[in-house]
Amino acid sequence: MRTSQYFIATQKETPADAEVISHQLMLRAGLIRKLAAGLYTWLPLGLKVLRKVEQIVREEMNNSGAIEVSMPVMQPAELWQESGRWEQYGPELVRLLDRHQREFCLGPTHEEVITDLLRNEVKSYKQLPLNMYQIQTKVRDEIRPRFGIMRSREFIMKDAYSFHANQDSLAETYQAMHRAYSNIFTRLGLDFRPVIADTGSIGGSASHEFHVLANSGEDDIAFSDSSDYAANVEMAEAIAPAGERPAPGAAMSEVATPDLKTIDEVANYLNVAPAQTVKTLMVAGENEGELVALVLRGDHQLNDIKAEKLEGIANPLQMADEAAVRKVAGAGFGSLGPVGLEVPVIVDRSAAHLADFICGANKDGFHLKSVNWERDCPLSRVEDLRNVVEGDPSPDGKGKLLIKRGIEVGHIFQLGTKYSEAMNANILDENGKSITMIMGCYGIGVSRIVASAIEQNHDQHGITWPIAMAPFELVIVPLNMQKSEAVAQCALELYEAFRQAGVDVLLDDRNERPGVKFADMELIGIPHRLVIGDRALADNQVEYKGRQDADSVLLDRSEAVDNIL
Ligand code: ATP
Ligand code: MG
Ligand code: MG
Ligand code: MG
Repeated sequence: MRTSQYFIATQKETPADAEVISHQLMLRAGLIRKLAAGLYTWLPLGLKVLRKVEQIVREEMNNSGAIEVSMPVMQPAELWQESGRWEQYGPELVRLLDRHQREFCLGPTHEEVITDLLRNEVKSYKQLPLNMYQIQTKVRDEIRPRFGIMRSREFIMKDAYSFHANQDSLAETYQAMHRAYSNIFTRLGLDFRPVIADTGSIGGSASHEFHVLANSGEDDIAFSDSSDYAANVEMAEAIAPAGERPAPGAAMSEVATPDLKTIDEVANYLNVAPAQTVKTLMVAGENEGELVALVLRGDHQLNDIKAEKLEGIANPLQMADEAAVRKVAGAGFGSLGPVGLEVPVIVDRSAAHLADFICGANKDGFHLKSVNWERDCPLSRVEDLRNVVEGDPSPDGKGKLLIKRGIEVGHIFQLGTKYSEAMNANILDENGKSITMIMGCYGIGVSRIVASAIEQNHDQHGITWPIAMAPFELVIVPLNMQKSEAVAQCALELYEAFRQAGVDVLLDDRNERPGVKFADMELIGIPHRLVIGDRALADNQVEYKGRQDADSVLLDRSEAVDNIL
């Protein structure tokens, strides 16, 4: 590919509304552009990375024996009513009516559709096990889309669903998926950990999440410093209880509230005092009726947020430090429109209880949602957990527990018969007896992987892709190509040679200053760079530099291809 015929859309300035480094760099390097909150266009360079991730996922899924299918994004409500999730899923499910007023949703996941397919197609245990997957757009109306494509409302997921005649067969496929996931994240060059996970609202018996370790991660994972034990915080907390726990995975749900027009009315309704003089605020009370308030100053710029104690603060833990405040506050800020249109007020009426409300507002007034604390406000629970488990013996008894932040990039579940039973997905067993199929489901956040890789691989100049994900493997930068015949000739010759050798090579033939080209290519993060200039060329040499090398080295022109391959 030649840059003159390609689309390079780099930016110098750090976008003000991008909080985490991956989001900043994806915008600056020209990988994505925002359409609306949680909705992004993948520009050519970004799409190239995404496709490379997809391909590795596809290859390892195929190697594991899974079979690729493609299911519709739009799904009829009847299937979700059968499984019970039409009621349970809450507002994250995007619902719509067709022109005949029939109800549909846009798939956040596909258990219902695949179960419907296989209950019609599979009649006998002899046809099982089956593991089917797709790589496809999912839609979730996240309450707080943020961090760019890390938590977006449309994203690419690889989702697989396995069907079995008995539990042993499920366990076998589950292990195969665990191995396939480890292969995928290893091939992608990521520092990851599989952790024991809470099964939450999807239900079922066994579950693991795969986390990429990164400080910007939204989950806290606990792992042993000297064994393979690793669990996400919800699970570790179950093992080392820190007070009363909220029911895991309680989905966000709308709560019928009276007509609340002002913050005062909300505060009154929730039995807390209103904070004053602020555009945006969070209120947390330790006990019912008791006031703890965080006042967030500034507009919707996260950088401007300051935490401020109001009188009567009872629980210093809730205040934590500014970083912790940002974490909770940030949760509300990704989706903030102009101030005054949407004001998040998070009210924690009882720290011991941790089951509360998020209040959203628009020009018509306020509405309340009950909160899934596991996902939406982990701060106080994590702080509690730190006190309880960091440094304690790990639950498997080997070594001490450490807590680090992780980004959930994969999740595998042994579902059992949760969906197949509700939807009557039955088959005949060896004795001709009707039995319910047993299921597993296995997700990977394909698009989220791209952001999490950048969280782990960047420096002050830009992205430092693991080679497997780099949009191009090598860039050739000719100096003064438009004037020097020798440079142009050498650049084109090497470009062809690398293409012939199967290298994904970019020729930067733009009429730009060398400094501009170098900065762009470092920002984009191309792992290998060859510079062709008159001076070195006089000695039949070209200049090579690895993306993270301090200095460049001279290579013989004729040996450049062999040396870099
Ligand atoms: P999270 O806890 O981050 O909300 P989840 O547990 O709701 O994720 P799953 O239902 O397990 O997500 O979906 C499988 C995978 O899809 C997740 O492990 C994650 O990598 C990815 N994923 C989920 N939600 C999003 C999103 N809004 N944007 C991008 N990727 C997502
Ligand atoms: Mg989620
Ligand atoms: Mg999760
Ligand atoms: Mg999950």
